[in-house]
Amino acid sequence: MQTAEVVIIGGGIVGSSIAYHLTAAGCKEVLVIERETAQGKGSTGKSMGGVRAQFATPVNIQMSLYSIPFYASFDERLGYPADYRPQGYLFCATNEKHLAYLRTNYQKQVAMGLKNVWLIGAEEIRDRFPQMRSDDIVGGSFCSTDGFVDPYSAMIGFMTWAADHGAKLWKHTEVTGIQRGVDGITAVETSRGPVSTRNVVNAAGPWAKPVAEMAGVDLPVEPLRRMLVPTEPFDQFPHSAPMIIDMSNGFHFRPEALGFLLAWNDPEETPGFKTDFDPAFIEKILTRAADRVPVFENLAVNPKRAWAGLYEMTPDHHPILGEAPGATGFFLANGFSGHGVMHAPATGKILSDLILTGKTDLIDASLLNLARFAEGRTIHETAVL
Ligand SMILES: Cc1cc2nc3c(=O)[nH]c(=O)nc-3n(C[C@H](O)[C@H](O)[C@H](O)COP(=O)(O)OP(=O)(O)OC[C@H]3O[C@@H](n4cnc5c(N)ncnc54)[C@H](O)[C@@H]3O)c2cc1C
Repeated sequence: MQTAEVVIIGGGIVGSSIAYHLTAAGCKEVLVIERETAQGKGSTGKSMGGVRAQFATPVNIQMSLYSIPFYASFDERLGYPADYRPQGYLFCATNEKHLAYLRTNYQKQVAMGLKNVWLIGAEEIRDRFPQMRSDDIVGGSFCSTDGFVDPYSAMIGFMTWAADHGAKLWKHTEVTGIQRGVDGITAVETSRGPVSTRNVVNAAGPWAKPVAEMAGVDLPVEPLRRMLVPTEPFDQFPHSAPMIIDMSNGFHFRPEALGFLLAWNDPEETPGFKTDFDPAFIEKILTRAADRVPVFENLAVNPKRAWAGLYEMTPDHHPILGEAPGATGFFLANGFSGHGVMHAPATGKILSDLILTGKTDLIDASLLNLARFAEGRTIHETAVL
């Protein structure tokens, strides 16, 4: 029988970052199991690649304070590119309530040690982006180290570095069962046969719940469809722009190649494994785009290039990290609620710490454990895009 010190189920960006951090910490036998023939077919390959520290809860800010500098030094550290572009995130408030909310978040972010974040006046937003309709904009917040990465490259970089240093990746291999004895995990069953191990990490993205069920663990993670619309080349808005968020309706966009990438989370979307792109979404999003940026009326969109993917949602919009209660050796790295790319570096470090030493200094890990739901300790993140 094959053996591994740690088996990671799922070769997306989260599983790959955990493999990197474990290997970098000296763990010799790390095995990543991915059922697809190639990495990136889950949520990671569908992501918008936004990275930000402008969050509302201290624990999310802390995760970003590790992750964003990590992305900034990724190429140097790993020798592979993550394509970090610090173009910023600009939240545009359209009423006093939004502004008060941004002010409170700003104070938390600064108190946690975030630099390069500031509140910005309506006038400055107008000056920087005269193309935007700003009659209702009352101010905003901007962080210059927020920005974008290429999720696919970062995932491949993490996994390739780990493989260069002894980790293994089995592609086209499905985990079909998880064996537990009285002392905890004993093995996983796969389409390639069983693997004996004491430690298993669930990094199965939107499929985390069925994977947890294999270990007898009930996980509150639900898949939720998100759609993105890339535009054809467009030069009537600056390509140096940050991610811009219209807080009046949640529409946001960023430059991508010669065009723009448009996003809006339809509140009518319902949970489920739906990954087909709904062509009716194009009109909905273009209406919002042209409402905020009138020249976007001239955008051209090829519906065939638009896509849909799955967020992995938890009830409080925070991930679930750490060992599952009552299932020794079964670790969770799930439910990123739209932030799995930006928080992958911190997640890798936290999981590696917890597996190898039982504790971590990066966050108070009890805040994000699964037990918080049963114990009524949920912490709500409201800055979800
Ligand atoms: C449209 C869209 C936009 C997004 N934008 C952003 C953004 O701007 N910033 C951000 O930070 N995040 C964003 N996200 C969220 C982010 O993409 C995810 O949180 C992240 O990719 C999760 O990574 P993962 O590795 O956990 O999951 P995945 O990438 O889904 O990887 C899980 C892997 O597990 C494998 N698997 C599942 N079950 C099994 C099994 N039984 N055996 C073997 N393998 C299995 C799957 O094949 C898959 O490859 C976005 C998501 C979507 C859909």
